[in-house]
Amino acid sequence: MTRAMLCPAMALLVAAGFAAASPAPAADRLAPLDPDQVQVGGEMGRRIHITIHNNLLKLDVDKDFLKPFADKSAKEGFVGLGMLLDAAVRLAAHARDPKLLALKKHLVARAIQAQEADGYLGMLAAPSRMWELWDIHEMGYLIYGLTSDYRFFGEKPSLAAARKLADYILAHWSDKPDWQPKPINVHMAVTGLERALLTLSDAAGEPKYREFCVRERKLPEWDLGIVVGRWGAVEGHAYAYFAHCLAQLRLYRADPNERLLAPTRRAMDFLVRRDGLVVTGTCGDHECWHDSQAGTANLGETCTVAYLLRVLDDLLRLEGNPHYGDMMERAIYNALFAAQSPDGRRIRYYTPFDGPRKYFDGDTYCCPNNFRRVVSELPTMIYYRSEGGLAVNLYTASSAKLALDGGIQLAVRQETDYPSAGRVVLRLDPSRPAAFPLRLRIPRWCAAAQVAVNGKPLDQAARRGEFLAIRREWKAGDRVEIDMPMPWRMVRGRQAQSGRVAILRGPVVFCLNRARHKELAALDLRLLTLAPSSLEPPIRDESVRPNGLACKVQAWGPGAWYPHAKPDLQLVLSEYPDPAGEMVYFHVPNPRDHSFVADELIDNDR
Ligand SMILES: [Zn+2]
Repeated sequence: MTRAMLCPAMALLVAAGFAAASPAPAADRLAPLDPDQVQVGGEMGRRIHITIHNNLLKLDVDKDFLKPFADKSAKEGFVGLGMLLDAAVRLAAHARDPKLLALKKHLVARAIQAQEADGYLGMLAAPSRMWELWDIHEMGYLIYGLTSDYRFFGEKPSLAAARKLADYILAHWSDKPDWQPKPINVHMAVTGLERALLTLSDAAGEPKYREFCVRERKLPEWDLGIVVGRWGAVEGHAYAYFAHCLAQLRLYRADPNERLLAPTRRAMDFLVRRDGLVVTGTCGDHECWHDSQAGTANLGETCTVAYLLRVLDDLLRLEGNPHYGDMMERAIYNALFAAQSPDGRRIRYYTPFDGPRKYFDGDTYCCPNNFRRVVSELPTMIYYRSEGGLAVNLYTASSAKLALDGGIQLAVRQETDYPSAGRVVLRLDPSRPAAFPLRLRIPRWCAAAQVAVNGKPLDQAARRGEFLAIRREWKAGDRVEIDMPMPWRMVRGRQAQSGRVAILRGPVVFCLNRARHKELAALDLRLLTLAPSSLEPPIRDESVRPNGLACKVQAWGPGAWYPHAKPDLQLVLSEYPDPAGEMVYFHVPNPRDHSFVADELIDNDR
């Protein structure tokens, strides 16, 4: 039983950190599959495909990524070779594409070739090593990427190189006990290091890397508060915070001390109760925590949404609370996919929902690489092993094969147009008839889900915000139909968006693209007033993705005498990943209209 099944309200309190007296979970509620066990279709599969073929395989890796490591002449800087390596490894393990496998091997071989006899693997000249930015950060991800190559491909030279590099860091760490990397704090300067060392420690069966995290990096004591804004030593850096949460969550699996969960719970509390989460599923402004709900130029660093997704996935596995899955799908279908051009080639650093968006110029650095990495992890966020059965977290066309208890091989296939439609057909093929639970995440946005097994409606309620567990004997050819009606919902804005509403359908936010309306060319879009009752059923729109949707709604221009004058504008709103989207919150005649709803991901709509 998950906490959510026992008592949803209690599960939420636990998630928000108000039930510290509850016993810590001894083991994860959900366990992920391996990347090669899952095939992904639909928009999620398309994004994985274009990330491989229109991005990874189009990079000039020799010039942009590998040359600086062969030269070793820089005084400071960051490329993200280890991050790229990690993404290439996991995507190659998932897709088994020959060109991608060749790229992965090339990156690994050249990286190992660039490693010096003392273990150093970086791009800085000798006098700058370790202590100039971002050398330790870069090395941490190289350790992680090389360890991934060992984990997914069994490559022992990669593990040996990762160990040599980790040993280099351990040997030099005590050289500067009072290191203060101006202008930022140490924990931000080494972002990614602790999780890399913990992963290496487990992969190599070598406790010294874990001990370094505990004794030298004092990971169990790390307990930074939520610092709002970007100032001073940038202690409010959201990505760095999440990276440390992930390392603590990893440590927690071996040492289930509640203290290790406190910073993560504080972050979740900030997101869902203190206005930290924005409607597109991400957080942070100019890389740092913000709670104003403003969505302008520097909203939502791509690294932040990548790490938020990772933390949500980790918490979902640990606690089994479907709220995390709800947050994951909002982030994936909006903030994450909007961080990439529809053709896959370009990636953003920030993805604002208020005002124009820009692409990042270049393929190196943190955001492009963390984007590739989290896309490589999407296949393992769909299905999980759970209580001897299967849990479905994300809805997307896909299939998976996994072994269950008792030597049963289970094949599962998901047929759906999600997120365009809320109808999902699951086909289950166990190798022999077997009793196990099938658990389905019923999203919080879905008030009236209906589930049928082999055409027969289920006699148990599919309550939103819970995992619906269907316990029966399954046999080959069984078919589960899930109908999740997706009416429009007009979600009330908060803080800076107070008095405005955003339009959502299922997990997708809709946005206004000025270029689709010539009459809006020179208009301040904030002066539009939406006519909520004019919303029409969704229309097909392929401008952002195949089988995409758009929303037709009328509006009044500036100065119009709403509500009695006829709306003078017919708007077509596109899905949020529309690269020219500029606005998601609209002024309305009656901001207290009872048909408007609170954002269901938020736990205290005021
Ligand atoms: Zn970044």
